[in-house]
Amino acid sequence: MAAFLTKANFMSGLQCHKQLWLQVQEPHRATPLTPVQQRIIDQGEDVGQYARQQFSNGRLIEGNGTEAVQATQKAIAAGATCLFEAAFSFASLFIRCDILHKLSASTWELIEVKSSGKIKEEHPWDLAVQKYVLTGVGLAISATKLMHINTQTCFFPNLTNLFTIADITAEVDRLLPEIPKKLEQFGAILTENLEPTLAIGKHCDNPNPCPFTKDCWQDVPEVSIFTIPRLDWKKKDLLITQGVLAITLPPNYPLSNNQRTYVDSVFSGQPVVDEVAIAASLAALTYPIHFFDFESQNPAIPRFDGLKPYEQFPFQYSCHVLHKDGHIEHHEYLHTDPSDPRLPLIATLTNDIAANGSVIVYHQSFEGSLLRKLAQAFSDYALQLESIADRLWDLEDIFKKHYKHPAFRGSTSIKNVLPTLVPALSYKTLAVQRGDQAQAVWEAMIACTDPVEKQGLINDLRTYCQLDTSAMLEIYRVLLQFAL
Ligand code: SF4
Repeated sequence: MAAFLTKANFMSGLQCHKQLWLQVQEPHRATPLTPVQQRIIDQGEDVGQYARQQFSNGRLIEGNGTEAVQATQKAIAAGATCLFEAAFSFASLFIRCDILHKLSASTWELIEVKSSGKIKEEHPWDLAVQKYVLTGVGLAISATKLMHINTQTCFFPNLTNLFTIADITAEVDRLLPEIPKKLEQFGAILTENLEPTLAIGKHCDNPNPCPFTKDCWQDVPEVSIFTIPRLDWKKKDLLITQGVLAITLPPNYPLSNNQRTYVDSVFSGQPVVDEVAIAASLAALTYPIHFFDFESQNPAIPRFDGLKPYEQFPFQYSCHVLHKDGHIEHHEYLHTDPSDPRLPLIATLTNDIAANGSVIVYHQSFEGSLLRKLAQAFSDYALQLESIADRLWDLEDIFKKHYKHPAFRGSTSIKNVLPTLVPALSYKTLAVQRGDQAQAVWEAMIACTDPVEKQGLINDLRTYCQLDTSAMLEIYRVLLQFAL
């Protein structure tokens, strides 16, 4: 193999040979990172830096490539006992180790920091390839550990147990003999002039979203086997190997009732609507009818009282209220500074949502669980928040159970339903178009010191959240044609 492979290349090779080839030979074909993906990477770096603080005697190896390898060798020779980002190269591999910690005069422990809440299937490979290199350069590694986020028993402000350190030496050692074989295989792939031909499949998003899907998935039609609701990957992979990407399934192909309804609606071009069931659902609503939506954040490192790592907290809501006489009000809250948003948000929310009347949401489990968590954390408002949670009515249920339309592309997301039922409203022209984007923009906004830029971000967030609830209101109005 001509050039060194990084650990990231090695992990790509495990995921997909074509991904490895493209990453090394034609990296320019990768789709650039979105701000949301960048935020996940930034969060991982924050977690890494926090992990380093747990080792008081650590020394950070700076620089890249050969310079970093030499700095590492120098630090070890000088008697360093804990290194961050130590760099090594061996047998066509180049690696950086998150934490290398000396245990005795001659042995080290290798610690990989992950921002996940558990050990994942690919993590032992990550450590195995590092151990292979470290052993190759003559370091004795007596333990390989994974330091991941403790999502169970850590609560802000006590972050002393933010991490769980799991010793996975046995799993790593089981994989070690596989590393040279993999390297040989990957080396052979990379000597090819042409990219490998490989079918798309579950591996395109597992364990990580592949940056080359734009190329590989370009022949997948807009309506395809991937739009059939909850079709499992075993079936999809088999269909792919048979060359079936469009929804033209073999005769008598086994599908659930829900899947069959969708496929039939695609072929007929007609929606399948259970008008009686929709009418019965709508009859349960009482005025004033609230159309309500939260935006929330869930940082790996919690920053407000009582929150666990990755626990959601709301920072914004929008609420349209439809009164019996037909008039509509709009209320909203957006927290605009880095302080805890929960209490001021609750105070406004319990004022904006009446003590009676239905509360329509889209995907009830999300708003319901946030409301109940807020009720637990802020007992002064518990009764009001529980009352709101008890009155939730899930608009998405209509599209899960009673209204299928081929144009929804097998999804019940409001982003798919809205363009068909209310074409006048659209997310496509907005600066913020998705919930995860709103999270990234909120972080940027609360940290922003330029008043003009900050106001622009505030406006973008308000416009997005407001569209969520006006979309629900307008979809509800469309459904009223079925009301008794
Ligand atoms: S999109 Fe899928 S098939 Fe293509 S390179 Fe990525 S993982 Fe491999």
